[in-house]
Amino acid sequence: MSTNVKRPRLFCDFDGTITRQDVIDVLLETYAQPRWRDVEQEWIDGRISSRECLDRQMACTRVSEADLDDLLGGIEIDEGFQRLASWARDYGFPLIVFSDGFDWIIERAFAHNSIDVAALGIRIFASHFEFVSGVPKWSFPHAKGCAHGCGTCKPGIIHRLTTPDTVPVVIGDGRSDIFAVDAADMVYAKGWLQSHCKEQGIPFHPFRSLSDVLAHLSAIYDPAIMRNTV
Ligand SMILES: [Mg+2]
Ligand SMILES: [Zn+2]
Repeated sequence: MSTNVKRPRLFCDFDGTITRQDVIDVLLETYAQPRWRDVEQEWIDGRISSRECLDRQMACTRVSEADLDDLLGGIEIDEGFQRLASWARDYGFPLIVFSDGFDWIIERAFAHNSIDVAALGIRIFASHFEFVSGVPKWSFPHAKGCAHGCGTCKPGIIHRLTTPDTVPVVIGDGRSDIFAVDAADMVYAKGWLQSHCKEQGIPFHPFRSLSDVLAHLSAIYDPAIMRNTV
């Protein structure tokens, strides 16, 4: 006999959710010309999209591959992330990391923290970044069809990857998650995103560490029940 429990699909923000600091902010504070803050303010005031904001801030940034990699060596990952990712893999629940930030930066930050993305089956959807002959190049491969001005369109990714038998679960902390929470069936929020959810009347579970998310999810998705599902 099978029960009717839908399987969770985890969509997790990167900056400030998986990492303790916002990596893009650390990069800009260290290597961008000070006018990046004026661009940031335009975005906070709602005058430009997050994609335009990031594009213009990156254009203010001068950094070598070695220096950026060094910087990423100092980025800390939430103490619960490895266990959350292992749990999701063990039960076959997909874990998607999505971010307005950059793939290269996310991959290097994981590598510095001994997070084996391939072994954990983590999929990453982010803006693209690479050094070409030592010069930073970036693009926005997951902004297609987006009407919000996202760097990476989180709701677009959720809609693409969610099937009728899955529950999209969003885990996030900030402004880059506001469109994602609208597309989620379940939300874990910390920091700024908590106040946003309260203001908008969006139900959410608060968390401080991803260990809290794991404890909550593993209580809901009991493997004994999930074994009986397709
Ligand atoms: Mg964030
Ligand atoms: Zn979008």
